[in-house]
Amino acid sequence: MSEIPGIPNTDKKRIVIIGGGFAGIQMAKSLRKSPYQIVLIDKNNYHQFHPLFYQVATSGLEPSTIVG
Ligand SMILES: Cc1cc2nc3c(=O)[nH]c(=O)nc-3n(C[C@H](O)[C@H](O)[C@H](O)COP(=O)(O)OP(=O)(O)OC[C@H]3O[C@@H](n4cnc5c(N)ncnc54)[C@H](O)[C@@H]3O)c2cc1C
Repeated sequence: MSEIPGIPNTDKKRIVIIGGGFAGIQMAKSLRKSPYQIVLIDKNNYHQFHPLFYQVATSGLEPSTIVG
């Protein structure tokens, strides 16, 4: 496979997961011990925890506490 910046070269077959939301992260975790190289791509470099949006909207939490 030709080299792609940021993705280690390997002989393993690659699975690319688009979207690092709840589904994408769960998928990546479930494939952790698989024989494939797992690449998770997201348009943002952070994950938002939606269930706590309400607390941010009502000033109970800072936005930075629900973004990782
Ligand atoms: C305010 C709010 C409160 C919620 N509360 C709860 C709750 O209490 N309990 C519960 O079970 N569910 C709750 N949900 C629902 C839950 O958040 C969603 O069901 C869940 O996030 C869906 O997961 P997903 O992986 O499909 O999408 P998301 O988690 O939205 O992930 C999608 C990912 O894809 C990325 N993406 C989008 N377009 C592109 C692109 N073109 N290229 C690359 N990456 C891309 C996004 O950046 C994002 O990271 C809530 C939702 C909201 C909005």
